[in-house]
Amino acid sequence: MDEHFDRGPHDVPDGDDSLARELADELAEELADELADELGYDLEDDAGLTVDGRISTGYLPDPGDVRAAVVDGYEQFRDVDEGTVPDYIPALAAAPADAFGVCVAGVNGGIVAIGDAEVEFTIQSISKVFVFALVCDALGHQEARRKLGVNSTGLPFDSVMGIELNAARTMNPMVNAGALATTSLVPGRTREEKFARIAEGLSRFAGRRLEVDEAVYQSEVATNFRNRGIAHLLYGYRRMYSDPELATDVYTRQCALRVTARDLAVMGATLADGGMNPLTKERTVGQGVCRRVLAVLATSGLYERSGDWLYDVGLPGKSGVSGGLVTVSPGKGGVGTYAPPLDRAGNSVRGQRITTYLSERLGLNLFSSAPLGQPPRTTDAAALVPGA
Ligand code: GLN
Repeated sequence: MDEHFDRGPHDVPDGDDSLARELADELAEELADELADELGYDLEDDAGLTVDGRISTGYLPDPGDVRAAVVDGYEQFRDVDEGTVPDYIPALAAAPADAFGVCVAGVNGGIVAIGDAEVEFTIQSISKVFVFALVCDALGHQEARRKLGVNSTGLPFDSVMGIELNAARTMNPMVNAGALATTSLVPGRTREEKFARIAEGLSRFAGRRLEVDEAVYQSEVATNFRNRGIAHLLYGYRRMYSDPELATDVYTRQCALRVTARDLAVMGATLADGGMNPLTKERTVGQGVCRRVLAVLATSGLYERSGDWLYDVGLPGKSGVSGGLVTVSPGKGGVGTYAPPLDRAGNSVRGQRITTYLSERLGLNLFSSAPLGQPPRTTDAAALVPGA
């Protein structure tokens, strides 16, 4: 264990994991209660299940249709060269701008992949989704909401204004402030224990052991002053639930876990399947947690472009600065894409294009409906893709 954290104000004695949770509770209980009151949260817990287990979703089209759509989309968007590869984390600047991988994973375990779907890259902000899911599962979704918030910020992912402008300080777990606070709530006494829990949890979502890219981790550690500042600011507001340096370090490490577009599709399909990994049949988190996580993604997964995304795609999704994008079609499956050039909000350009196309062509938009008694009209997907 790192000595520095032995004497940290939030350290707990050896031997009991639940103490970390108790201490975290104690720290922020009063403030969180006040905020919950102010914001009108109803903190009565429910069974975590939809009434009678009824759900609102259908099925993916036949595998042949999914394959044809993926191939057509890949051909249509592979030459799009808009966007820029970010360099604020120096190690990311070397990413190949023309890499393009796409994968659709069904909740039945079916996989359709094309291009660079097996190329590894660091998960970055997409880790926020799954660490939030783990914390939600460990603390309960109401407690997680009370401690972290679930409203969109409409501001960039590393916003400090977002903290200063909002009484609750952390607005949601998909932007850095909330994500750092989320990581601080991961059970475990030391950074090693917390990180092990995260790596194991995310690996369960992927269905294979995920490893850290040490070069990317070191590169971000050497430059992540802004995130450290955010963590300290939150600590000052009692919305950080462990030592802020420890939380930033574990968060930076979780962002450096290596995944592929195929992994992202499987991780998305696991959320689509109520927390059950469709390949390993292993449970990751509870069903009630999944739909809360997806609700947060729907409002906040693509930062300040989240509204445009939902308007075009109609599905919860989450982007990362290394060019990954995961999209979840509840009850149907997950879409994972990899294409490094980003738009100005930090979302993969080609990833957004092809996912918009696939959502239309495969009929995934959660808000689509047809008038009662009339068959749904087939849409010309290409015509509906912005810029296509
Ligand atoms: N590790 C990155 C950061 O915190 C992740 C950002 C992102 O993917 N948008 O700055």
